[in-house]
Amino acid sequence: MTNPATHDGAAASRVDAESPLQQLRRQLHRRDPAVLIDGGWRPCVSADTITVDDPATGQVIATVAAGADADIDLAVAAARRAFRDGPWPRLPGWRRAALLHALADAIEARAGTFALLESLDAGHAIGSVRNGDLPLGLRALRDTAGWATKLAGEVPMRPAGQPGMDYFLREPIGVAGLITPWNAPFLMVLQKLATALAASCTVVVKPAELAPLSALWLGDLCRQVGIPDGVVNIVTGRGADAGRALAEHPDVNIVSFTGSTAVGRSIMAAAAHSNLKRVVLELGGKSPVMVFADADLDRSAKAIVDEIAFKCGQYCAAGSRVFVQRSVCDALLVRMHAAMDGIRIGPGVEETTTMGPMISAGQRQRAADIIGHSLAAGARVLRGGQARAGSGYFFEPTILTDVGADMRISREEIFAPVLNVTAFDDDASPEAVAALANDSRYGLSAKVWARDIGTVHAMVGLLESGQVIVNGGGSGAVTLPFGGVKQSGYGRENGQVGVEHFTEIKAVRLGC
Ligand code: NAD
Repeated sequence: MTNPATHDGAAASRVDAESPLQQLRRQLHRRDPAVLIDGGWRPCVSADTITVDDPATGQVIATVAAGADADIDLAVAAARRAFRDGPWPRLPGWRRAALLHALADAIEARAGTFALLESLDAGHAIGSVRNGDLPLGLRALRDTAGWATKLAGEVPMRPAGQPGMDYFLREPIGVAGLITPWNAPFLMVLQKLATALAASCTVVVKPAELAPLSALWLGDLCRQVGIPDGVVNIVTGRGADAGRALAEHPDVNIVSFTGSTAVGRSIMAAAAHSNLKRVVLELGGKSPVMVFADADLDRSAKAIVDEIAFKCGQYCAAGSRVFVQRSVCDALLVRMHAAMDGIRIGPGVEETTTMGPMISAGQRQRAADIIGHSLAAGARVLRGGQARAGSGYFFEPTILTDVGADMRISREEIFAPVLNVTAFDDDASPEAVAALANDSRYGLSAKVWARDIGTVHAMVGLLESGQVIVNGGGSGAVTLPFGGVKQSGYGRENGQVGVEHFTEIKAVRLGC
């Protein structure tokens, strides 16, 4: 099997004349479709395959294995053996942490390859991957590695007069199924992997079939840095086959899932009908942005547009419903138009691109359908509103107005570079503004732009959301718990609370 995980700059002289992109394409072409089970790459049981497209051209760039039930059975069995009999859960925390740091160093040494791979596979602007997903993923991995030495039980004191002693242990939950989406494939796999491994679990990863390539490269590196066989297993495949089989598997102790609310429901049902495995769900969003009249309009307009252009709007926490105080609505719109004028649409792998294509023709058509439906119901397009002609799955940055609260554009996650803008009355109370924001089945992220601290505190208290970002929030915090309320899911990723999901508590009562 040829499964290269090249080190940047280590290419043979024969290929020196090739650009890094050409070298990568050649490696992808040569890579055999395979799943990683028990430390080795092997064809999937059915030998079925899935082709992977470049979203900028629609051309096939790779072929991966289409694993299904039989492969999931083998992968779960390998993970169970590694958990029950292998060294991983028995290693001292510092040894596990050292291996996770070694993995981070190995990724960092190949940062150029990972950025190019992710950009080619998911379509994202390479600058946004290089400066966003990669450093965020590495920080998450290194920070989470620290929890390997800090997870601990507690010794609560018994009340006076009650002899004996109580304590509880925090033990790894066991075999973890990690099911990830295509919109941030590298970051999602790495975050979940780091969290589960820091808690001493063993894992079966099922990456998204639309963008599975960075997960395969990560699998190579896990082997290279010496993570024991069977601890990390990777089964590519379709959601309805490999994903379903993992969610239903009776020997999996937890499924950590990031993806759509619809699939999240089926994961929960599968958990309930199989072995009542624990489920952590990071699902969709339709995040509100509230801009008050005293806000910094230059900064807020730019941040709103940058966020919806990031990953071409295919970002779960993107603010897509903008509510602005009426007296500054026009001024904000002028600035938003200017920011959209500056977006450079193109293939993600081109350095000048600031917004790449959408992931697939199907996702793009779905966005066009939601817009068409909402226009028929009375919404108005201020700019964009349609696909860009030519090859690839490009979409125009779009602003809609006159949107009704019941329109599809207000209620459904569109996952495209589309903003709805609605003015609210200048004398609206914080409660009235929050009611607009909270009028959604989702509750993943909410953004507030205001200078008045009283307004900020009032909104933070009133918003139904797993996260509130005030005035841009500063730099990305990978140590802060991230997750949603309502139908955006439950459970949190990152930090102590994220790692603790992968543990069980065992209470001990010591009598005299
Ligand atoms: P998706 O739900 O279609 O797929 C996610 C993963 O689930 C994929 O690996 C897919 O193969 C698998 N899957 C599909 N059907 C399955 C089934 N029946 N059983 C088990 N697994 C199955 O989501 P997507 O389209 O890949 O990703 C986009 C969605 O992810 C959006 O809704 C977005 O908001 C969400 N998302 C959420 C977060 C968050 O942290 N809350 C982060 C990123 C993306």
